[in-house]
Amino acid sequence: MRYALVDGTRTEARPRLRGTCPCCGSQTIAKCGNHVVWHWAHRRRGDCDSWWESETKWHRSWKDRFPIAWQEVVHRDPVTAEKHIADVKTPNGLVIEMQNSPIHPDEMRSREKFYGKIVWVVNGDRCGSDGRSQTLDRSYFHMGRSSRPTRRNPLAFPVEWIGKSKLFHNWSNATGDVYFDFGDGILWRLDSFEPDKTVPIEDSNTVKSDGGAQGELFPTADTPGKKQRKINLGVVTPIRIDDFVKCSKKGRPVPGGFGPADLSIFGKELVYIGTVGGRAVHDT
Ligand SMILES: [Zn+2]
Repeated sequence: MRYALVDGTRTEARPRLRGTCPCCGSQTIAKCGNHVVWHWAHRRRGDCDSWWESETKWHRSWKDRFPIAWQEVVHRDPVTAEKHIADVKTPNGLVIEMQNSPIHPDEMRSREKFYGKIVWVVNGDRCGSDGRSQTLDRSYFHMGRSSRPTRRNPLAFPVEWIGKSKLFHNWSNATGDVYFDFGDGILWRLDSFEPDKTVPIEDSNTVKSDGGAQGELFPTADTPGKKQRKINLGVVTPIRIDDFVKCSKKGRPVPGGFGPADLSIFGKELVYIGTVGGRAVHDT
């Protein structure tokens, strides 16, 4: 956890500090090492929030986009008295969960039911506590994403999920909106996903770009005389992180942030170089 109560005040971990957990009330110890972000740990492992996952720099950088008072909000079910800590909860009741590791579908359902209004920000470039990437999902995403939009305003793109993980399969079961953060400075909202969709081979990764907003733009399965294959087909809408944060703060739906004029940004794969002055830098 980022915050524990010290003399009744929400306080960040500092060396040798002791506190109490705002969720279960048991004692916490400040963990202030060199490799993992400074955090609070329960002195004894007990029944606190079973949904809690170890915090990474990625979690922290996301929480930092929101006011301190909205971070790590203890949420209590008035009927069952069940308690959990929401990563971020806005004053209008929207819970934003930042998820680094995969979660079981049952837990996903439980969390959605418990919180009600929820959106997920998923680390598509899942990292360990040392901050290092643990999967190739980010590369697979960029390899599988077509640069031809399936919708032009706002822009949306088809993605053939070729990753070995079930990243798209698993998250397509969420009822709340799911935004993937692949570390390229843009959020990608997963708008739909069809596993094992049958498409003609020659069209399978060239979804037509002539469309406009109307009509089915995906190749159809029943084109006679064409060889077919099955692909895992997703559709993603790119969203500026600032827009996501702004809309979430106001409790509004997040519109797609990019239109036809921005198409050149997505013509080539975004290659993430790094961050300069807090802004993501790309080589496109
Ligand atoms: Zn606790």
